[in-house]
Amino acid sequence: MRDLESHVARALALVAPLAPHQRPLALALGLTAARDHRARDASPPFDNSAMDGYAVRAADVHGASAETPVRLPVAGETAAGAPPAAVRAGQAWRIMTGAPMPDGADAVVPVESTDGGTERVAVAKAVEPGRHVRRAGEDALPGDVIVSAGQTLTATRLGALAAVGVSAVDVVRPARVAVIATGDELVEPGAALGPGEIHDSNSVLLAALVREAGAEPLVMERVRDSPEQLLQRLAAADADLVITTGGVSVGAYDVVKAALSSEGVEFVSVAMQPGKPQGLGTVRGMPIACLPGNPVSVLVSFAAIVAPMIARLHGSETAVAQQRTSATVEQGWATAPGRRQFMPVRFTAPGSVAPATAGGSGSHLIASLAAAQALADIPADTERVSAGDTVALVRWIR
Ligand code: AMP
Ligand code: MG
Repeated sequence: MRDLESHVARALALVAPLAPHQRPLALALGLTAARDHRARDASPPFDNSAMDGYAVRAADVHGASAETPVRLPVAGETAAGAPPAAVRAGQAWRIMTGAPMPDGADAVVPVESTDGGTERVAVAKAVEPGRHVRRAGEDALPGDVIVSAGQTLTATRLGALAAVGVSAVDVVRPARVAVIATGDELVEPGAALGPGEIHDSNSVLLAALVREAGAEPLVMERVRDSPEQLLQRLAAADADLVITTGGVSVGAYDVVKAALSSEGVEFVSVAMQPGKPQGLGTVRGMPIACLPGNPVSVLVSFAAIVAPMIARLHGSETAVAQQRTSATVEQGWATAPGRRQFMPVRFTAPGSVAPATAGGSGSHLIASLAAAQALADIPADTERVSAGDTVALVRWIR
């Protein structure tokens, strides 16, 4: 049996990062940054007022209070968008939020601490130097890395880039991932079930997982347990990565294995649970991962093997790896000795998890999987997971 780590290493060796291209910020949401993006401009770009009020020299309003206000002449006013003015000692300057600080002033007295005068102002509260002033560059300096290579361009990251003068980003296009389900028993979701038939849930599950990973699913018409039909379908596929489900174990009609064993795809047992039978290789120049048919095995195989392949295509391996977390087990479960186990879990309280599938780890329990919010990643040498243990978690589902 091959350990999962070396299987994933082989899977990663089959894919290379996609070439980057440039896009305007407005068209980059959800894509992966292909390189570090740095600030062109400082944020804020200049010292400015955090309040509507009066720019002063703090020394000029020293000791001001409601009982003993300090009165200063108002030498002028600056609104947001105007160029900076200058004040002399003993003067106040009316200023609006976001307006540049006048030269010579070092603090802002909020209008609420004054009588609001326009010719002369009575200041009823002292301020220390720097008070209510937003300093140039306190948020970011030119050259600071705002988004790192491999990070997803989220709303907040795009907004940050805009603020520091960046208008376009180098991104990787979403990888095209073909999905092919196999099985004589499969019918469309919603279709009436004949004897022995089940709904094809893997096509839907995988297309959604591919999309959640930031890639573009190409769901191909599913194939019956016919090697010829599968080879035909593969001949029509044009993708950066192909995923099949079903037909990879030791049954009599294991179509994927039958069709692709002689095509340079290797079929192996991987020391993981669920998801032991796996195929991996290249077909017509396209990397292919042949997953088992059971839906829970599909989810686990996707998380453990396919998601890293997509991350490699997108150049986001580091950022994805950083999303791992941990939790405390509320209710233990049996492990699979010698195999790395991925147990679907749900949160019972913040930071606390229990198995999501009441019936155990049965890899056909797709409906129970709807309750799962993460996979607990249990090392191969763990003999039992008990209440109170800390476990690593992969894949967050709200
Ligand atoms: P197989 O590896 O083809 O023997 O499939 C293993 C199990 O997964 C069988 O119970 C199949 O019926 C089930 N299965 C295979 N493909 C799908 C699919 N697309 N949707 C739901 N269940 C599937
Ligand atoms: Mg099958």
